[in-house]
Amino acid sequence: MKNLWSRSKSSRTEEMDLLVYQSRLIGADSSLVVWGGGNTSIKTVRKDFRDRDTSVLLVKGSGSDLKTIDPKDFPSLRMEDVLALFDKTDMTDDDMVTYLGQCMLNPKDPRPSIETLLHAFLPYKSVIHSHADAIVSLTNTSEAKQILEDIYGSDVSIVEYIRPGFTLSKKVGLAVQNNPNVLGVVLMNHGLFTWGDDPKQAYDRHIDLVNKAENYARTKGKSKKVFTSNTNLKITPKDRKQIAAYISPTIRGLVSNNQSMVLRYDDSSDILEFVNSKEGQKLSQVGPATPDHTLQTKIKPLWVPISNSIDNQSLVKVLSDSVKRYVDEYIRWYQTNTDGNHKMLDPYPRVILVPGIGMWTTGKDYKSALIAGDIYHHTIKVLKTAESIGQYTSLSDKDAYDVEYWPMELYKLTLAPPQLELARKITMITGAANGIGKAIAERFAYEGSHLLIADVDYDGIHRLSEDLNRKYGNGRVTPVVMDVTKESDINAAFQILRTTYGGLDILVSNAGVAPVGAIDEIAISEWNRAFNVNATGHFLVSREAVRLMKQQELGGSLVFIGTRNIPAPGKDFGAYSASKAAEAQLARVLAIESAEHGIRCNIINPDAIFEGSNLWSVEVRRQRAKAHGVRIEELEQFYQKRNLLNVRITGADVAEATLFFASSRTSKTTGAMHPVDGGIRDAFPR
Ligand SMILES: [Zn+2]
Repeated sequence: MKNLWSRSKSSRTEEMDLLVYQSRLIGADSSLVVWGGGNTSIKTVRKDFRDRDTSVLLVKGSGSDLKTIDPKDFPSLRMEDVLALFDKTDMTDDDMVTYLGQCMLNPKDPRPSIETLLHAFLPYKSVIHSHADAIVSLTNTSEAKQILEDIYGSDVSIVEYIRPGFTLSKKVGLAVQNNPNVLGVVLMNHGLFTWGDDPKQAYDRHIDLVNKAENYARTKGKSKKVFTSNTNLKITPKDRKQIAAYISPTIRGLVSNNQSMVLRYDDSSDILEFVNSKEGQKLSQVGPATPDHTLQTKIKPLWVPISNSIDNQSLVKVLSDSVKRYVDEYIRWYQTNTDGNHKMLDPYPRVILVPGIGMWTTGKDYKSALIAGDIYHHTIKVLKTAESIGQYTSLSDKDAYDVEYWPMELYKLTLAPPQLELARKITMITGAANGIGKAIAERFAYEGSHLLIADVDYDGIHRLSEDLNRKYGNGRVTPVVMDVTKESDINAAFQILRTTYGGLDILVSNAGVAPVGAIDEIAISEWNRAFNVNATGHFLVSREAVRLMKQQELGGSLVFIGTRNIPAPGKDFGAYSASKAAEAQLARVLAIESAEHGIRCNIINPDAIFEGSNLWSVEVRRQRAKAHGVRIEELEQFYQKRNLLNVRITGADVAEATLFFASSRTSKTTGAMHPVDGGIRDAFPR
């Protein structure tokens, strides 16, 4: 590991700048900390509310990430009050959090980290704490203490594993008090603390101690091959991707029994090396390395035992049996360790390992599935290093229970805001680059849904997806170029959907074209184009969606964007009206055929939406103006005036109605047709 401290970049003398610089250096290295793990602090002087100089601890606030941390993310706590706790012998997490809240110089700052007291009780200016893979690999090895002593001699203190909180902090404080010459503290099954007179010294020591661990493991473990390939497993990369895409919705269905999960598939080389090894199965079941690993990936991953020659159908059976077995074991583990105070959490795995195929991680959204995946990459690294120098050891069953059912963590869950209407959902929208499709994508993303947005307009969907991902977080929206008339495009898009999010809950079938012209004038090519997109396109996409939803066994909602023309056709618009009527009939048949699988299908009939729409080309406008006997510039006004409410219909209006049908608010409605047209008498049902 390289020491990346740059004198020129750290030339500022302000302590806060140095703290931020140091923290970001630590945060940028995923072998030190991942996703909000680790913390840093500095002890300094700040003015209190009466302008008095006050000794404070600036420590990373809860919920921030070292990689991107800013000065505002460090709450300041009055040291005099915090240090008074050192005389106590015991303290619950609750009392500690309440007490620390009272020590804050500015009560509006973020809550200080749960590991605050560890920083406070170390009597040094700058303190760094990481969960470095290299250190965890050593602490989680049989003979760990001997190894640590061989490497560090008397330079570090070693503190036995206990869950973070007051007691651990006090133990660390005492260890350093008794050994004032140590440069750091190694916490078993957890990580490393170092300190210094300034942020640079603390950083230098941190990197130095981690390097010693890395060098030891490299030298000691170089002759041992930890993962030996299971030669029975010969699946080509192409087959692997196809099998993965096929079984993803099955897995999603199996693990979403209590609540819908988002899945992420991963077949990177370290994952494949692990799942394809003879040792993987046994090692994966030993237990979690640290509290962080436990919180993100539960006590164990699910290992699905498959052989090389398995076909898709038997794979589904093996998956289903394996998930059931996992849940049974989880329940047993919970019952053995529970004190009866906490209800059992979701018993389904967060990490699923399938030999020959790869890994799925699950979460309430894409981001948490990604975090679980990242953590498991580090788990594999830790397992590999530990096994190369000895034998991997983990937290005990009881310790893992105490972390997963940590009252602090459970309390955090209760603070989470209520879930958005489409949280945990996955939606596919066709024709999403502009107009109605775009408005629906914006509304659904706002409501928490994950989106696969499809369109023939490459720039349009990429622009939209960048915009939405910036607003709602990377990975929430995935763009695919797809022509709804091409089966190959649709298959490719569904392959991406299956492996990116694991399945599908909602299809908004929206893509359409609007050829104009009287029946006796329209060319066969235009007629065919209308039917290809407006009828066959909906058929091809919904056929694939229904196949997936049936396999997933979680029900689903199909929303077809129709048109006011279905109940009330207009002249010179025959190809459009007839093809859209075919779409409506298709939707009704889907409602009939899919109901037994809990899949609903409803139709929305908007009237003329102009804003941002590609449908209303100059040619269409010219023709429709002619058909209605108005001037082209009067056309929008004409459509507005002809509805009873005299209102302009917008994409947002259609998005609202689409949300209504997509969500559980209409869980008992299928085969319905809903107008969004301001009230048009001709379109009333007769
Ligand atoms: Zn920690």
